[in-house]
Amino acid sequence: MVITLHRGWVALGGLAAGIAFAALVFWASAPLDIAAKVHSTAAPTNAPVLSSIQTGAREVALTFDDGPDPQNTPAILRLLREHHAKATFFVLGSQAEKFPGLVEAIARDGEEVESHSMSHRNLAGLRPSRVSYELTSTAGLIHELTGADPHFFRPPYGSLSPTVLRAAARLHETVTLWTIDTRDWTGRSAAAITSTVLAQLRPGAIILMHDGGGPRGRTIKALQSILVALSQRGYRAVTLQTLVRDAVGQTAAAPSSP
Ligand SMILES: [Zn+2]
Repeated sequence: MVITLHRGWVALGGLAAGIAFAALVFWASAPLDIAAKVHSTAAPTNAPVLSSIQTGAREVALTFDDGPDPQNTPAILRLLREHHAKATFFVLGSQAEKFPGLVEAIARDGEEVESHSMSHRNLAGLRPSRVSYELTSTAGLIHELTGADPHFFRPPYGSLSPTVLRAAARLHETVTLWTIDTRDWTGRSAAAITSTVLAQLRPGAIILMHDGGGPRGRTIKALQSILVALSQRGYRAVTLQTLVRDAVGQTAAAPSSP
């Protein structure tokens, strides 16, 4: 299985599409025990950053950041249930502390809970001890509320530094960005959010949306259309863990794959 990754720390101060990519060969010895072989040089750290997964399966990962939120998250969970879809929620520790029942509800629905830091500060400029606190405290909360440790970490603003990559690696969290940025936080219309997703749709895409940080009525309206369109096009919305597992399984079944 080949997973396409950003060479993470190149994206200092805010990530944009088109920064250096490297194709990394992944293998898994345990379900999500991912190790990477980097075919790239001149990087200060070997920690990989996940931005999409190359797979033949018509599967994508819908991801929601900045929650949980008492208005938006339950509405999104309801839609996911109605459409038999799964998603990944990159929760903030600060929101999880305020709304622990929502984190439990996400997990109870079989959705995935992952880490988006404690405070949503830009971690790239912070001291290592503060960065470590942001990740460790959020991981602890997630473990307490769901019984599972997070496998993935999405840095606020996609902002990376060697310190951030090291902190995530210490917790065995894979730093995860996105393939498709819906830019739903800008207040654009549901139609614009939907068309952004459908125009860039491809197997293994990781789709960035938000269930927190403000009113998300347009995101929720778009989600409904996106879920219908995914199903019409033969796609399944799955959790990030499932996306990775299925891609690993494909490689195992296809000995000629790299
Ligand atoms: Zn965020």
